[in-house]
Amino acid sequence: MVVMGMDIGSTTSKCLILEDGCRILSSVLVQAGIGTEGPKEAYDRAIEISGVSGDAISCCIATGYGRERWSQADGMISELTAHALGSHFLFPDARTIIDIGGQDAKVIALDDRGQMCNFVMNDKCAAGTGRFLDVMAGILKKDIGELEQLAASSKNPVTISSTCTVFAESEVISQLAAGAEIPDVVAGICASVAGRVASLARRIGIREQVCMSGGVAQNGGVRKALEALLEVNVSFSPLAQLAGALGAAINAGINISALKGRSMSIA
Ligand code: ADP
Repeated sequence: MVVMGMDIGSTTSKCLILEDGCRILSSVLVQAGIGTEGPKEAYDRAIEISGVSGDAISCCIATGYGRERWSQADGMISELTAHALGSHFLFPDARTIIDIGGQDAKVIALDDRGQMCNFVMNDKCAAGTGRFLDVMAGILKKDIGELEQLAASSKNPVTISSTCTVFAESEVISQLAAGAEIPDVVAGICASVAGRVASLARRIGIREQVCMSGGVAQNGGVRKALEALLEVNVSFSPLAQLAGALGAAINAGINISALKGRSMSIA
């Protein structure tokens, strides 16, 4: 049984093809999200890499901000459900998922069966999201992928006190003008995102194992700052940014199994 999950986000499109509920045949991430050719490119490349034909896909489930725009989908699920399913697959013992994407941050609580039992979300403000990091990387003229290394080499992190992205932007420019080292500014930026998300997480309570999903999970500077603030280990998979697409594919598999009257285990 071959199924597909398509996660159309604000900044990226992710497509994943799953065989028999456990074998990932292909997973593709395209740096273009809703309203672009990104979803089609992700779909075409995922099909090509998997070696299966589009007709062989039994079910495709879409998720993400742009899920309603993917007409090839057989159904759709929320990002919360998708990240809960995908992260539970990657980390069966996870009880708290911190998902930081391009335009929002969510903290999802899972019960002992890995089912979502609570969540909190920040989708009102760019602070504490990937957008904040993207804006700051732009000011520093750095690639988003460089921030982790820079933060790691910081000796004296600066404090970014503004909670608003626009004010924080001015603050970063002032820090640089005052002679702050770029690694110290980057460490401050990562700590600022972590601080916002840690406050969100404390609202529903932290239960271990804690894992991260979404694109910002790739930033070790944010992960380490979160670990320090929450005093827990934060697990991370190289598939973190694809966790939503994985969850959508798992949901597609569950749908097919239900139709065939068969049971399927996720973890
Ligand atoms: P969305 O689904 O809303 O498009 P994602 O979960 O794909 O969001 O995350 C996108 C965010 O991930 C970007 O805004 C960026 O800040 C961050 N990001 C993407 N790639 C990297 C990377 N290599 N290292 C660190 N952060 C990254």
